[in-house]
Amino acid sequence: MKIKTATLGYPRIGKNREVKKALEAFWSGKIASESLLETVKEVEEANWKTQLDTGIDKIAVGDTTLYDHILDWTFRFGLIPERFQQFSGLERYFAMARGKEEIPALEMTKWFDTNYHYLVPEISNEVLTADWSDFIERVTRSQKILGKRAIPIVFGPCTLLRLSKLEVNIGKAISVLIPLYINLLTELKSLGITEVQIHEPALVLGDANNWKQHYQTVYNSLSNVGIPLNLVTYFDDLGENYSWVMDLPVNAISLDLTRGRNLELIKTYGFPKDKRLGVGIVDARNIWQIRPEEVIPKLETIKDIVSEFEMQPSASLQFVPYDATREKQLPEPLRNVLSFAEQKLQEVVFLAQKITVCDSECNHESLTNINRNNDQDQSKFDANKLTVTRYKKDQKSIETAWEEFRRFSPTNQKVQQQLKSLITKDFERNLSYDLRRSLQISLPAFPTTTIGSFPQTSEVRKLRVRYKRGEISQEDYQTAIKSQILECIKTQEEAELDVLVHGEFERTDMVEYFGQQLQGFAFTQNGWVQSYGSRCVRPPIIYGDVIRTQAMTVDEFIYAQSLTAKPVKGMLTGPVTMVNWSYTRTDIPRQEQAYQIALALRDEVTDLEAVGAKIIQIDEPALREGLPLKQEQWNQYLSWAVDSFKLSAGIAKPETQIHTHMCYSEFGDIISHIERLDADVLSIENSRSNNETLYELTDGGYSKQVGNGVYDVHSPAIPTSEQMLSQLRTGIANLPVQQIWVNPDCGLKTRRWEEVIPALKNMVSAAKKLREEANLTKGD
Ligand code: GLN
Ligand code: ZN
Repeated sequence: MKIKTATLGYPRIGKNREVKKALEAFWSGKIASESLLETVKEVEEANWKTQLDTGIDKIAVGDTTLYDHILDWTFRFGLIPERFQQFSGLERYFAMARGKEEIPALEMTKWFDTNYHYLVPEISNEVLTADWSDFIERVTRSQKILGKRAIPIVFGPCTLLRLSKLEVNIGKAISVLIPLYINLLTELKSLGITEVQIHEPALVLGDANNWKQHYQTVYNSLSNVGIPLNLVTYFDDLGENYSWVMDLPVNAISLDLTRGRNLELIKTYGFPKDKRLGVGIVDARNIWQIRPEEVIPKLETIKDIVSEFEMQPSASLQFVPYDATREKQLPEPLRNVLSFAEQKLQEVVFLAQKITVCDSECNHESLTNINRNNDQDQSKFDANKLTVTRYKKDQKSIETAWEEFRRFSPTNQKVQQQLKSLITKDFERNLSYDLRRSLQISLPAFPTTTIGSFPQTSEVRKLRVRYKRGEISQEDYQTAIKSQILECIKTQEEAELDVLVHGEFERTDMVEYFGQQLQGFAFTQNGWVQSYGSRCVRPPIIYGDVIRTQAMTVDEFIYAQSLTAKPVKGMLTGPVTMVNWSYTRTDIPRQEQAYQIALALRDEVTDLEAVGAKIIQIDEPALREGLPLKQEQWNQYLSWAVDSFKLSAGIAKPETQIHTHMCYSEFGDIISHIERLDADVLSIENSRSNNETLYELTDGGYSKQVGNGVYDVHSPAIPTSEQMLSQLRTGIANLPVQQIWVNPDCGLKTRRWEEVIPALKNMVSAAKKLREEANLTKGD
């Protein structure tokens, strides 16, 4: 029996970020739309050919996008909010993606628990005419290149609705959508398409059970078209919904076997005889090569239970970069165990072949026994041996690569020992908040500060690039950074802020900056993945024990503090954010990786204190977004996430004021965990959420100080003192005066100095006004 292979989507930004570059050229008027579309086509066809050449049997097509594939489906189905209806074509599309003049874009939010962001559809009563001709063009073109291998991806109606802002009831929305989907599927059928993937990742969410009826209604209707449907899920297991999902009238169901407990569900409940299983066994969310000794036993279990299955990645490969072999500057033992999209395709084919070969050539039961019998001590039975035997024909066996990597990857006894000997006390500050507060720095009421970064002008960016390329000496670079710090401190003094920052000019990225100085992190040259639209990120790779070998932020702090009598904050990136924005190891839990980073930060905290820092901020913008998809797993995550933060801050003296910052957080349901962070001051995004975040905190009775983001740093508008005053008054109404700080929403790095200077001056004058009104000069 030959096992077929499939994909569920591919990176679409281009191997050299061609689409990103074309988009930006188009937006700035440098190229015409035809040229942009041509680039997208070239990238798309190159992607198809790669998959074809690797031998993938069923190649998913149609996920290529100009900005976001969810927006594409919103657009195709005519789900156009009124404010965009005045535009047409690409102008409309990009207005929805990015806004246009006064018209705000669709809201952008995180795609499940990934670092990709999609545009949230808004569905009202009025639906314009659907037009999916671009999709059909894509599909027919793919048929010319791929023939029967072309399998269109259609975004599932239930997930579309589940993720939308709905102004109509779900039933009504479904009745509008069903005929559209039927027409689309009918058209695909008439093109000779043999199967369609319908992606319904919302089936793994905790609330999928509430949607059971909708799924049943939708799929009962769609099955009438008579085109085979593969219902594709990913990112987690089907949980309690497994049984009824198995009963939906589709031909195949794809499950993620890399996350959650889908395998257990299959073992417990079986798999329907009349359906095919899409085995998402190659992890599409991380960059490690498969470990056959882990993967093969899973596949063997599946083979025993499921009569027909296909091998595939666990999700779209859009979450990994294109090609690991290009990372020539990485040490070979590391590069050899990395697997980006191209390698993952090979793994899928490899696994399908091995399973097939094994099936016809040998009886692995007896092979297992031979190995076992050869080994005197059965408990020492080594799965590696088994797989090595089985794959001995491979040029360089996967196991050897892993073996070499294990020898190469940094392990550190000291950090492992430290982790083992952690005690509760290590996670706690020496004194409780109430007791330590009076020992900490005394500041005016409504103290003013910023979140850390100041404008990253093109001058600053060029400086860093030239330094990286070796065009300027370290000394010249440091002098130039110092002059930025000097200017930044001067500006803050002129604005009369109370707590200053050095400006973060030496940092391209808040995770990269620390990762580059820590052992155990690696950085790619071409490992770009799409974050949203044209924005790409290169996530660091944690590949060994994390160790701090030298102070990371102390020099900049010392210099900044030497320039002013006001307190300067030491600025660190927290352990949870470091982990959540990196590709992590799979040989030890994420928790352990976060603790290792926390230990490194602990040393940094101590070093900062030693050179006089009275205030240290440990940013955790990614803490909330790391929440698991199923609420029943939240506590487990929050427990270690909060502990990691506490481990990094617990070492601080009671006199040191610890700040943390989180952006775009909804705290309502996790307030007790936020309290448990035990940060003296928490600064939050506030101005775009209409104070909702603040109310969530105050309703929850938050007891520590809050930096109430008084203006939106993502907008170029300069907020007036009155606007900020009114924002602050809301804060006062809800919190004791002593708890209130005054600061912008987030870091100022994307803004220009011309915007920042007046905005901060206005912010300070708002704080002063409040102090006068309240007749307060001291915080307590
Ligand atoms: N300190 C960082 C900055 O100001 C925080 C950024 C963030 O929250 N994402 O840039
Ligand atoms: Zn922020």
